Amino acid sequence: MTVVIDGKQTAKEIRAELREEAQKLGVVPGLCVILVGDDPASAIYVRNKARACKDAGFYSSTIKLPAETAREELLACIREQNADPQIHGILVQLPLPKHLDEQEILAAIDPAKDADGFLPVSAGKLLLGQKAPVACTPQGCLELLKRSGVPMEGAHAVVVGRSNIVGKPMALLLLRENCTVTVCHSRTKNLPEICRTADILVAAIGKPRFIKGDWIKPGAAVIDVGINRLEDGSITGDVDYEAASQVAGWITPVPGGVGPMTIAMLLKNTLEAAKRG
Ligand code: NDP
Repeated sequence: MTVVIDGKQTAKEIRAELREEAQKLGVVPGLCVILVGDDPASAIYVRNKARACKDAGFYSSTIKLPAETAREELLACIREQNADPQIHGILVQLPLPKHLDEQEILAAIDPAKDADGFLPVSAGKLLLGQKAPVACTPQGCLELLKRSGVPMEGAHAVVVGRSNIVGKPMALLLLRENCTVTVCHSRTKNLPEICRTADILVAAIGKPRFIKGDWIKPGAAVIDVGINRLEDGSITGDVDYEAASQVAGWITPVPGGVGPMTIAMLLKNTLEAAKRG
C-alpha cells in the first residue's frame, strides 16, 4: 500500500511544535522579510511567511521596497536588520530586480541571521558537516522522510536536479543520513534506469510529470519538489503522480507535499537563530 505523505498536516504539526518551543525560550524569534519590487508571486510568498510567523507567535517584519531601489539603499537596509536585536532571521525574497546582484546582496546578510540557508558560509558548513542554517526546501524534504519512517541508512537516494537551493543541499543532507547518493541533471545518461534503482527518489527539475510511473522502483519513497503551473491554472509536480502512486511505497502529492514544509523550515531556522542569541 502506498503512503501519501501529507506535507500540509506535517507542516502544521511542526509549526505547533515551534510555537511551543518559542514560548519556552523566553525570547520572541523575529524574522524580517525584505521584498524588492512588485512581483505578484513573491508578494504572495511574503504574505504567507508573515502569516505563518504570526501564527507561531514569532515577530515578523516585512520591508517592501520599490523595484528601482538602489544597491546602496538595499545594502543599508540589510545592515540595519543585521544590527536589530529583535530580528534573528533575515530573508531577501528572490528573484531581485535585474539591476541588483543577488549574490552581493545576500552576502550582506549576517550569516548568523541567514534564514534561508543560502549564504556561501551556510552552504559551506553543510558541505563540511557543521551546524548551520540549511536551505528550507531540502530540509523540509528530509523532515518528511524522517517523520514518515522511510529507512535511509544504506538506501540508494537519487536526486534529480542540482540547483544550489534544492538539488545540491538535498544530496548533502541525504549523504549525512548515510544514504548512497546519486545526483542527476540535464546531461545525465540513462536517467530512467538510474531512477529505477532509487529507494528514495527526489525530483527537483521544474518539468511537469517528467518522472514516469515505470521509472519508480516498487516500494520507493518519492519526494516531488516540483511546482509547475499548467495552462489551465492548476499546479502539478515533476512526477506523474497517478502512475507513480501505484508503485511507490511513499509519495508526496503536489500541492500539499513539500510546498508547505518550506515555510515551516524557515520558521525553524529563525527559531534556531533566536536560540543562538
Ligand atoms: P532549477 O531550474 O534551478 O534546477 C533544475 C534542475 O533540474 C537543474 O539541475 C537541471 O539540470 C535539472 N534538469 C532540467 N531538465 C532536466 C532533464 N531533462 N533531466 C534531468 N534533469 C533536468 O530549479 P530549482 O531547483 O530551483 O527548482 C526545481 C523545482 O522545484 C521547480 O519546479 C521549482 O518550482 C520547485 N521548487 C519548489 C519549492 C517548494 O517550496 N516546494 C522551492 C524551490 C523550488 P542542469 O543543472 O543540468 O541544468
